[in-house]
Amino acid sequence: MIGGNMAKASDLDLESGFATKAVHAGQNPDPCTGAIMPPVYLTSTFAQSRLGEHGEFEYARTNNPTRETLEKNLAALEGAYFAHAFGSGMAATTAVLSLLKPGDHVVCGENVYGGTHRIMTRFFERLGLKFSFADTRDLDKIDDAITFNTKLIFVETPSNPMMHLTDLSAVAVLARDRGLTVVVDNTFATPYFQKPVELGCEVVIHSTTKYLNGHSDVVGGIVVTTRADQSEQLSFLQNAAGAIPGPWDCWLTLRGVKSLPLRMRQHDESGQTIANWLEKHSAVERIFYPGLKSHPQHGLACQQMSGFGGMISVDVGSFERAKALVEETRIFALAESLGGVESLIGHPASMTHAGLSDEEREKIGISKGLVRLSVGIEDTEDLLEDLDQALQTATLK
Ligand SMILES: *Cc1c(COP(=O)(O)O)cnc(C)c1O
Repeated sequence: MIGGNMAKASDLDLESGFATKAVHAGQNPDPCTGAIMPPVYLTSTFAQSRLGEHGEFEYARTNNPTRETLEKNLAALEGAYFAHAFGSGMAATTAVLSLLKPGDHVVCGENVYGGTHRIMTRFFERLGLKFSFADTRDLDKIDDAITFNTKLIFVETPSNPMMHLTDLSAVAVLARDRGLTVVVDNTFATPYFQKPVELGCEVVIHSTTKYLNGHSDVVGGIVVTTRADQSEQLSFLQNAAGAIPGPWDCWLTLRGVKSLPLRMRQHDESGQTIANWLEKHSAVERIFYPGLKSHPQHGLACQQMSGFGGMISVDVGSFERAKALVEETRIFALAESLGGVESLIGHPASMTHAGLSDEEREKIGISKGLVRLSVGIEDTEDLLEDLDQALQTATLK
């Protein structure tokens, strides 16, 4: 069914510049009306001309034109031909892991999104998949974790919330030598700043909930792949398992993506200014931001990323200080999630990574004093002032 249900970016979509692709890839004026923006096809089914004869679309779980437009657009942004949209980032991860069979082994980064760790250890292990969690900053540790039945290497870079990086070209070479697939969770960097496919990785996933949609009004996910056989299986899973996004969500995400380059430039500019300022602040004991020269993997960041974005973690030394900081900010809202136009602040140990045990958190470095910032696109000065007043209160604790 290649070309039927599989969303495939055209060569034209893959050739223009990134910002042009963000606005246009996969989208042409509507042939019926000339509408310049893709319509939201609010329909669950499509009429058949005769019994057994249907057009390109049949039933909206299988495919929907708005969803297909989003898939073509995101495939083009990641520089791949195929993309499959899901109802959340976790549904995208679940689809990728569903390509495996009992006994298959996955080497996963030890500091991945808490929900990724949870679905692996509390669901897929039960179905017979095997997982090893390794510090993927170190290529030797990945190599050591590989066994005879390893099928996938799953990495998140930069990682949430410790901003650990994985050398994507090196992992891609290692995987190619061993006949393994590399899956990269590219949610933090986005294809604007990091292109895993260009670096040799086969599969990229996103929580489109975050930077790609960028406006904190949709939950969604995408799996991008360079391989037609994987695309076919993912297409099968969209239809057979049904964890698909609705057309409205696809349309909102498409609209969000159009301004991705502009937003990412601002997240990055403010992110760098705020990280530099926080690094010098007396209340900050440690800071984790790949754009800082003091980040132990700054060299790698400059090599494989073209910007560092708006995610910053700081350790303010104690739970009491962290609590005061996240509760005292006025512009930075205390909330889960990240990557929207608005600034958010969170406490990983009790929020995104609450599902991990104390030992698991300690091993990765997620202390009780760790606070994570998602720097939005508000005025940088206002954000600095907000953090300054909240840190003053935190210091008194
Ligand atoms: C949020 C997030 C996810 C999960 O995505 P949902 O859309 O919330 O299901 C996966 N990976 C990373 C890095 C995330 O930040």
